[in-house]
Amino acid sequence: MNAQLYHLTRLESLTGNLFIDGKYTEAIELGKELLETAKKTEDIKATMNAHLNLACCYYYLGEIEIAFQHILDYKVLCDEFGDDRDKYYLYYLSALIYAYEENFEEAKEAMKQCIRIAQELEMFYSVSSSFNSYSNYLLHEGNYEKALHYALKALAIAKEHCPSEILLQCHIYLSIASSYIGLNELSKAEKIINHLELNQYINNLPHEKAHFLHVKATFHRSKGEYDIALQLLHKSFNIYSEYNNQMKLKSILKVIAEIYESLGNYKKSYEAMKEYLTIVEKLFSTRLSSKIRELDVNQSIKAIEKRANVDSLTGVYNRYYIETTCDKWLKEIKKTDEHICCVVIDIDSFKNINDTFGHLIGDEVIKGVAQACLKVANEDKENIIVGRYGGDEFIVLLKGYPSHSIMERAKQLYNEITSFQINYLTNEIKVTVSIGVVCTNSIPYAKKFTQIFKVADQALYMAKRQGKNQIVYLSNENC
Ligand code: GH3
Ligand code: MG
Repeated sequence: MNAQLYHLTRLESLTGNLFIDGKYTEAIELGKELLETAKKTEDIKATMNAHLNLACCYYYLGEIEIAFQHILDYKVLCDEFGDDRDKYYLYYLSALIYAYEENFEEAKEAMKQCIRIAQELEMFYSVSSSFNSYSNYLLHEGNYEKALHYALKALAIAKEHCPSEILLQCHIYLSIASSYIGLNELSKAEKIINHLELNQYINNLPHEKAHFLHVKATFHRSKGEYDIALQLLHKSFNIYSEYNNQMKLKSILKVIAEIYESLGNYKKSYEAMKEYLTIVEKLFSTRLSSKIRELDVNQSIKAIEKRANVDSLTGVYNRYYIETTCDKWLKEIKKTDEHICCVVIDIDSFKNINDTFGHLIGDEVIKGVAQACLKVANEDKENIIVGRYGGDEFIVLLKGYPSHSIMERAKQLYNEITSFQINYLTNEIKVTVSIGVVCTNSIPYAKKFTQIFKVADQALYMAKRQGKNQIVYLSNENC
């Protein structure tokens, strides 16, 4: 690893760790350095990572406009270079913005997508923290039972998959305690609060401390201990004031006003309410509703998915898409008793074309074969898909075709491919292909694409060995 790359990777992991540890101000300092270095070295992924970390840190510090700018910068890069992991972060960031707007319905929708993607990618820390965020949105809506359910789910995942991430567990326990308070199960809430009180993260990190004090205040309020609740709320308020976290200040002031009102101290209640309204007005002026349209997450997701599924040279699907679709089809056919057939196509002596006419013409031939396959697939788009497995090898997957009709389709593919030609100077370039075919009725044990492909590839190998330019179908009789 060269020195510059090492420096970048180190900066990335340090920034990420500071963020995970809740040290947002320090993370911003490093995040800025990361952004500068990444831009200088034109490292796109590191630049995206820097924007992502900066967006989240600024958000948690209440600097919403700067956060939003970093989100937009991140999104622009995502549209062009994003991968599956970035889909998760795009949804995550949009959930943050919706939550800021107090649009918890949309925030929950975005967080559901986060959970789904994180589960698919087995990013367990993210699965757990997304379940916890989901629980938090439910708390805001006053749906304490469901909030508890999802917080407990988050906790189970955190304990199983990332037991050393104590701060994550602290956040989850705060949600669990809040749910219990909402459900009036105060003794359960008290146990958690007493435990958290001793926790070093809660005591040493200002945001966590302030959050904890807020939850504890809610607990005492529920017990009717208003004086203690007010003291705790003021302490929490002071911490959030230092960071100018207007969102949190707003919600604390509202509770303070309500408590003073129940105590009959209308003067104090009025003062708190006035302060609350000033913040509401200020927040309203930075409302992001109009900007949020710029953050068209769905459009970015589509761009990423298209890039992730399509082979850039030919425009047919790539190997990843073929594999995942085949695995999905294999699950579906269990219920329907249909077959899947796999046709593997490899251009004969393709190296000669490259050697004789050059790689660019070779590329044109590969594109031509892809187009010929598409002609057949387009006759039944739902049940036939074409992908490039790599190099000069293609795969056509067919669903729901009886095995006796599969040779007809294989011959049709063969005819389309061998009949196209490319004119180059005075040459008419034509190709032949070897084709291997197999259907799932011959391999009933197949649960994964790789198992079918292995047999189809053997058929292709036989076709090559027997002199190329032919189709070998491994059916029940000869499989
Ligand atoms: P066979 O009949 O046994 O398949 O012989 P072959 O010459 O086709 O051999 P093989 O399939 O092993 O070689 C594929 C060649 O395709 C090797 C590689 O240089 C070339 N190739 C792989 N990807 C590309 C590409 O994207 N464009 C071009 N032009 N050539 C490629
Ligand atoms: Mg070949």
